[in-house]
Amino acid sequence: MSLFKPLDNLSSTSGSAPSGDVEHVKCLILGSGPAGYTAAIYAARANLSPVMYEGLQPGGQLTTTTEVENFPGYPEGITGPEMMEDLKKQAARFGTDIRYGLATSADFSSLPHKVIIDEKKVITADSVIIATGATAKYLGIPSEEKFKGFGVSACATCDGFFYKGKVVAVVGGGDTAAEEATYLAGLCKKVYMIVRKDYLRASKTMQHRAMNTANIEVLFGHTTKEITGNDLGVTGVTLINSNSEEVKIEIDGFFVAIGHEPNSSIFKPYLEMDEIGYIKTILGSAKTNVEGVFACGDVQDKYYRQAITAAGSGCMAALDAERYLGEKGAH
Ligand code: NDP
Repeated sequence: MSLFKPLDNLSSTSGSAPSGDVEHVKCLILGSGPAGYTAAIYAARANLSPVMYEGLQPGGQLTTTTEVENFPGYPEGITGPEMMEDLKKQAARFGTDIRYGLATSADFSSLPHKVIIDEKKVITADSVIIATGATAKYLGIPSEEKFKGFGVSACATCDGFFYKGKVVAVVGGGDTAAEEATYLAGLCKKVYMIVRKDYLRASKTMQHRAMNTANIEVLFGHTTKEITGNDLGVTGVTLINSNSEEVKIEIDGFFVAIGHEPNSSIFKPYLEMDEIGYIKTILGSAKTNVEGVFACGDVQDKYYRQAITAAGSGCMAALDAERYLGEKGAH
């Protein structure tokens, strides 16, 4: 039972949602990556009756990855989608109410907190756990936008299949780029890695893997000027090398793997964030600057960004929410 005062007048919320479709929950979890599911497992086992909205990408970013070899407990490794399916089953087993839907606005100005789902359903919540993760970044050049979905992709495991036996390029020098390039090398005839610096930022293992794959050619010190193509899709890319010369290569697909942006914009009016939009949590906890609102996973972590650290912080968020609700007498 909630001890918080129910909403008097929904029309005063910032979410501009129609009244009539309002539901109150004790613990609302937004996002379904390792952080969200771990928070759900802990919250459900603590009788918080969590309701989870999965967000735009059910299962989160790991559903777009291939092998996960560094999550403890899987000595042979596991694919990202399989791992997320396991986490989902585990969260559901303890009674998490897992729903399809996206949080489109929020109002944390008074208790209970309000979150609008899909621009219409109003959820009022005694506690909110934000596990909305981060989204892939794009270069931002016009030709990239033009060919998005027609040869430009930010997910090799989603779209790599379409480039079987073809030539592709991956832009980026981090773990994602190295992983995507290695994955694509198993499908494609040739993979160019376009790296703007003269070194890779990826971990040593991933660097080694990419550099020692015969059909991967790393182009250090190159930036992307323009992606070229025709009505059927991408046919090439024009690069600028470190001598400021243009270099044209022929490719069939262009994969962007240059990092991520935290999915936190709807919380901006209420939550403290860094300049990029990563939610700030109080050191050693998942607490945000707003009571009853907790953040975990990639939306608050720009340093580690691992499934295991996301899961750990999801556990912290659920424990913090449980303690908070206990102190408030709402649990
Ligand atoms: P990172 O931020 O680590 O790397 C981004 C890469 O993209 C860098 O090489 C960066 O270049 C480059 N880049 C950024 N903007 C541009 C641009 N406009 N034009 C060209 N290049 C650009 O992101 P990742 O997604 O690779 O990794 C994020 C985190 O996730 C990391 O902590 C990583 O370790 C982790 N991860 C772990 C995996 C695993 O363990 N299996 C798999 C994938 C990711 P520059 O170096 O010049 O800034």
